[in-house]
Amino acid sequence: MKEAAEKVWEKCLDFIKDNIEEQQFNMWFAPIIPESLEDNKLKIKVPSRLHYEWLEETYISLLKSALNFSLGQNSRLVYVIGKDANRQQLPSTNRPELAKQSVTLATETKDPELKNPFVIPGIREITIDPQLNLQLNFDNFVEGNSNRLARSAGIAVANKPGGTAFNPLFIFGGVGLGKTHLAHAIGVDIKEKHPKKKVLYVSAEKFTQQFISASTAKDNKNNLNDFIHFYQLIDVLIVDDIQFLSGKVKTQDAFFHIFNHLHQTGKQVILTSDKAPVDLFDIEQRLLSRFKWGLSAELQLPDYETRYEILKNKFYNDGAEIDEDIIAYLAENIRTNIRELEGVSNSLIAQAAFNRKEYSIELAQSIIEKSVKNNRHDLTIDHIQQIIADYFSLDIESLHSKTRKRNVVQARQLAMFFSKKYTKSSLSTIGSQIGQRDHATVLHACKTVENLIETDREFKKYVSDLETKFSD
Ligand code: ADP
Ligand code: MG
Repeated sequence: MKEAAEKVWEKCLDFIKDNIEEQQFNMWFAPIIPESLEDNKLKIKVPSRLHYEWLEETYISLLKSALNFSLGQNSRLVYVIGKDANRQQLPSTNRPELAKQSVTLATETKDPELKNPFVIPGIREITIDPQLNLQLNFDNFVEGNSNRLARSAGIAVANKPGGTAFNPLFIFGGVGLGKTHLAHAIGVDIKEKHPKKKVLYVSAEKFTQQFISASTAKDNKNNLNDFIHFYQLIDVLIVDDIQFLSGKVKTQDAFFHIFNHLHQTGKQVILTSDKAPVDLFDIEQRLLSRFKWGLSAELQLPDYETRYEILKNKFYNDGAEIDEDIIAYLAENIRTNIRELEGVSNSLIAQAAFNRKEYSIELAQSIIEKSVKNNRHDLTIDHIQQIIADYFSLDIESLHSKTRKRNVVQARQLAMFFSKKYTKSSLSTIGSQIGQRDHATVLHACKTVENLIETDREFKKYVSDLETKFSD
């Protein structure tokens, strides 16, 4: 009986081998042991429940064809689970979203054999808590120039997860610009439109912790396999702050396998990062190149209109009636990011309520002064020149000199640009303090810097590095 089973299974394997990649074959089919053959019923033993889930999920039609091929139309397949049959859930307790996963099988308790739903139609169901925050949705994600591309790509992905060219969808941008919000919004929208899809939101940090605990557990091999298999079962995987994987070689490796599998099987991957793929460091090249396969969309600093809309929307949702000129004042004066916009509006509401004060521009102003980093009143032209000279390892004299060396010219132009931005000095004052130039030169410098920020990635990096120095 065993022999007959082995023969039939061997024929199945030949068929399967021809149809999938060797690596997949070795991973999923090689470990299976044929147990018995009875009345056209082939019983096979798989190493774990997850292995079974996985076969069912991914290779059901292939298995069916293989069985038809080797045993004929009326054949049936029955699984038994190997030694760890009573492990119904993924082991680690510090993995809430895994612990919540429930695996329901029709024959679970009465019968240790697991019937294949292509013979006994699907009662099997895997539920995964998607870990989404329903408050972060598209309805309250204000659209603006700074996020239009990312937002519409997100909507396209939500309409057809895995079915667009935006795979992976790579959303990047600085802190507080809405990456996490958008990532959740896409997930929430997918769940609404495609309730059956298994969506999972996870931060790269949590992913890393899970990976570490899976790979350091006692029976490390199974845990690690379970970890990877679990992720490979997801239809829409959202990983937030992927830059967190920088320098974590092993976690990247696990992610690489998961990513490849999902991508190959037409599942959707959504990633967010604080940097564009090209600017990420300590991430393996093979992963980086995959990040570029789909669409990279940047969330930029919101412009005045968008800041205004976001504030208006926020006050409305909070039930706070605030005059338009106060909103305009806030929108004008908070330029750093959206999180800060929200922080100030929360304080404004709280302070007004607490101190029984009216909302006023003065109140807004005092809150901004206390809380916002872009309060740079005490920057002087001299101070700015010094920071820039230090940054480029130049001395002030060469900044003032007549040299046309490119790096000195750029440093000088940056000094003018930032002096214009952070001091109230006139163009001619700025010019006279930075090497006796006239106001037209300063104006030209400011325009040049603005252009270079748009076109030259390296230069843009200087500007953002310097910005952080000015706000220290
Ligand atoms: P990031 O992940 O990029 O650091 P978040 O997604 O956490 O930023 O956004 C910071 C805050 O700003 C959140 O409270 C978020 O809801 C809000 N926010 C971001 N973008 C928008 C937007 N377009 N409309 C409304 N609120 C936004
Ligand atoms: Mg975030």
